[in-house]
Amino acid sequence: MAIKDIKEPSVSQWRKDFPILQSSVHGKPLVYFDNGASTQKPACTIKKLKEFDSQSYANIHRGVHELSASATEEYEEVRKQVQHLIHASSEKEIVFTRGTTESINLVAYSWGETNIKQGDEIIITLMEHHSNIVPWQMLCERKGAVLKALSVNEIGELDLDEFKSSITPRTKLLALTHISNTLGTINPVQKFIEIAKSNHITVLLDGAQAISHKEIDVQELDCDFYAFSAHKLFGPTGVGILYGKKSILDLMPPWHGGGDMIKNVSIEKTTYAETPSKFEAGTPNISGVIALGASIKYLNSFNIQLRMKQESDLLEYGTIRLKEIKGLKIYGESKHKICTFSFLVDGTHPYDIGVLLDKQGIAVRIGNHCTEPLMTHYNVPGTIRASLSFYNTKEEIDQFIKALDFSVNMLR
Ligand code: PLP
Repeated sequence: MAIKDIKEPSVSQWRKDFPILQSSVHGKPLVYFDNGASTQKPACTIKKLKEFDSQSYANIHRGVHELSASATEEYEEVRKQVQHLIHASSEKEIVFTRGTTESINLVAYSWGETNIKQGDEIIITLMEHHSNIVPWQMLCERKGAVLKALSVNEIGELDLDEFKSSITPRTKLLALTHISNTLGTINPVQKFIEIAKSNHITVLLDGAQAISHKEIDVQELDCDFYAFSAHKLFGPTGVGILYGKKSILDLMPPWHGGGDMIKNVSIEKTTYAETPSKFEAGTPNISGVIALGASIKYLNSFNIQLRMKQESDLLEYGTIRLKEIKGLKIYGESKHKICTFSFLVDGTHPYDIGVLLDKQGIAVRIGNHCTEPLMTHYNVPGTIRASLSFYNTKEEIDQFIKALDFSVNMLR
């Protein structure tokens, strides 16, 4: 069935589902273009958070009482929702963490400790978020391993040939962002994974940005790990997901020790729970996970193709309109990108632009976006980043361009 034949909500209906989009900032209607940092929550997720905390809250996994049993059931149901969302083959491959950062650190410690030896090599890229750089740097320091970073070209793309030629018999891991949070580039991860697999290299994908913009199928991708955060998927903060192939997770030692990750404890020796519990020590963000379930249910209530179509329209329109501003340079002009615009305007400082846009109700992010090596590569201190989502509109882009034009003229 063609997209136009599917009776599903339009952007004006979507906007009504997100209460914050009806609010004002500095007396101006909010234009929320900071989705790369955190997406907003639909009313059903906010309702679920409130309802669960006020009527159904109890700690999970260890109670015999009704509230605990039903909270456990709801919590574990979300694990299955996440499994289906990313097409994992089993819910046991879904580990709940506090966020993408923690998911990557989990792999760097647990997998890294057992699989990386002195002289081994880990490949990352210059466009990685600090969360996908620092844990590997720390691992390399602990182990005496080598960290290599693939370069990024002028329009914000990686080079597969550079990857091929960087591989040596000592290369053990490729840690790559699926979509760049600064440039918006959608990396050809499938091709990277094919090359990695034929060289027996383990692959971790940082899916923090991709999870809200693309349909993810970890089995089709054949990545070994996939990490993302609920707060970038229209869900709450403090919840993250680590997908890992069960065969790999099973061989990894636990990371944090404590309650919930054990089978039996004696003073002499502890035996550990099965995957994924062995990676989930302590009381997790129960309400957050359960509310994430509401966000996923909301996203499943309409076709993802509609969201993607809206986003590609915004990308096309935003690119045209931004180029009308004299002296504006966009960082990240790959043909394969999401509707994230990083830019600088000649003769102005990004901070000043950010502040002036805010006064006009427009929320953008300025700075290095936790991608300092990328900023160094482009020889800029930072950029202005407008990151849009499916609930944004062309009218908002018009407001943004008007406010940007006004700010630039004022500063020049
Ligand atoms: N990776 C990418 C690509 C991101 O965009 C972010 C957050 O902006 C992260 C990792 C870190 O996510 P979190 O702060 O939720 O752990």
